[in-house]
Amino acid sequence: SGSLFLVPTPIGNLQDMSPRAVATLNEVDLIAAEDTRNTQKLLNHFQIKTKQLSFHEHNTQQRLPELLQKLQAGLNIAQVSDAGMPSISDPGQELVALCIEKQIPVIPLPGPNAALTALIASGLLPQPFYFYGFLPRKSSAVRQELAKLAELTATFILYESPYRIKKTLQALQNAVGDQRQVVLARELTKVHEAFLRGSVAQVQEYFSQHEPRGEYVIIVQAKPAALVNMTITDEKLVDLVTKQIK
Ligand code: SAM
Repeated sequence: SGSLFLVPTPIGNLQDMSPRAVATLNEVDLIAAEDTRNTQKLLNHFQIKTKQLSFHEHNTQQRLPELLQKLQAGLNIAQVSDAGMPSISDPGQELVALCIEKQIPVIPLPGPNAALTALIASGLLPQPFYFYGFLPRKSSAVRQELAKLAELTATFILYESPYRIKKTLQALQNAVGDQRQVVLARELTKVHEAFLRGSVAQVQEYFSQHEPRGEYVIIVQAKPAALVNMTITDEKLVDLVTKQIK
C-alpha cells in the first residue's frame, strides 16, 4: 500500500514551511486538503504541482472509503489542513485511525502549531498542560466545560475567534475567578504578533477598550495547588511530602 503523510503548514508565516514538508507535498500522488483553494495558494508559492482532493469535516464520511481505496491501491497521500497541524482542532483523526486499523503506514511530519507556539512564550508552567481547543457554542455547555477546566492542576489551552473572545473571557472569569493569570497570543508568526498577559480581570478590562482582532490562543494558569481539594488526608500528604524531601 501507499502511506499517509500528515503535513503541517504555516500558521501565518510561509517561512515556517519546512523543506521536508515541501518535498513531501511534491512527491506524494495526492493531497487531501481541508480547503483546496486555500492550499492551492500555498502550493503555488512553493511551485508544487500535486493534485488535490477536498477533505473536510462535512465530507469526511464520504471521503474515507475513497482515500482508503487509493492508499490500498498504492498511492501516497498527504493530508493538510488550512493551517498548522492536521487533526489539532482540524480534520484528520478519523483518517489516521482508519489507516492504523488497515495497517497503512502513517508518517507524521513535525511543524507549526498555534497551541505549542503560544505555550512556550506564555511564561506559564508548560508542564503539565492540557489542550482543549475550541469551547462549545452553547453557553450552558461552555459553563460546564470551563467548570471542569477550572479544577485542573494543569495549564490549559483554548482556541478562540475574535468574534467570541469577549464572551469567552467573561465565562472564563466566572469559572476561575479574577486572579488567575492568562496569556492571549494573537497573530502568531505574523507581522502583528502580540501577547497580552495579566489576570483574567486585567485582560477583560483591556477588551472593554480595544476591539479584538485576529485569531487567539488563550493560555490559562493552572489552579494553584493550595486550592486543590484534598482527596487524601493531610496526614498522608505530610507523609508523602517528607518522603519526597528525603
Ligand atoms: N491546526 C491548527 C494548529 O495546529 O494550531 C489549529 C486550527 S484551528 C481551526 C484555528 C485556531 O487556531 C484559531 O482560531 C486560533 O485559535 C488558533 N490559531 C491558528 N493560527 C494562529 C495564529 N497565527 N495566531 C494565534 N492563534 C492561531
